[in-house]
Amino acid sequence: MAFVIGVTGGIGSGKTTVADLFAEKGIDVIDADVIARQVVEPGTDGLNAIAEKFGAEMLTPEGTLNRAALREHVFSHPEDKVWLNALLHPKIRETMISQTQQSQTPYCLLVVPLLVENSLQLLCQRVLVVDVSEQTQIARTGKRDGVSTEQVKNILNAQASRIQRLAIADDIVNNDGGNKELIPQIDALHAQYLELATQ
Ligand code: ADP
Repeated sequence: MAFVIGVTGGIGSGKTTVADLFAEKGIDVIDADVIARQVVEPGTDGLNAIAEKFGAEMLTPEGTLNRAALREHVFSHPEDKVWLNALLHPKIRETMISQTQQSQTPYCLLVVPLLVENSLQLLCQRVLVVDVSEQTQIARTGKRDGVSTEQVKNILNAQASRIQRLAIADDIVNNDGGNKELIPQIDALHAQYLELATQ
């Protein structure tokens, strides 16, 4: 059985940065955001079902999903958002399971921004939370995405709280410092996970 470490954290906490450090050690990284795009690629049942239900205006001229149109539609039609989640969540979940099962590295990471919100810790042997202060989140997300403090705060309010996330953590990485503080924490976790994976 695959030994799966779920990695989560709020926006701008450093999930990608942390996952990249594990990937440098040769560990497979499975990314929920990538899978969420794979299940609506042209030719998938997911995209076909969306086009059938909402019409061709949900497709770009190239035949890919028109994300902006879909986002706008479900924003003003909450019942269609329920339908869309019921369509896509099981597909995303199945793909996560099959990709973790296919991993050949001693353990693998499953990076899921909304792990807590969607109870996806059930797919993981352990949960690693990347934790930062709200101040760090606002500063780094603002710098990366060019968004205001106000906009980051709105996103934070729509996500699980820091306390809810920490409540399900087996392991915690603090990423308020720089790379110099981060790397030794990743080295220690990698050693621990290699050990646990052999048990
Ligand atoms: P997430 O994937 O959780 O949204 P990222 O890994 O993209 O977060 O990190 C958010 C931003 O903060 C990125 O621009 C990243 O380069 C930067 N960042 C992450 N960790 C650090 C760190 N320890 N020191 C400085 N900048 C960092």
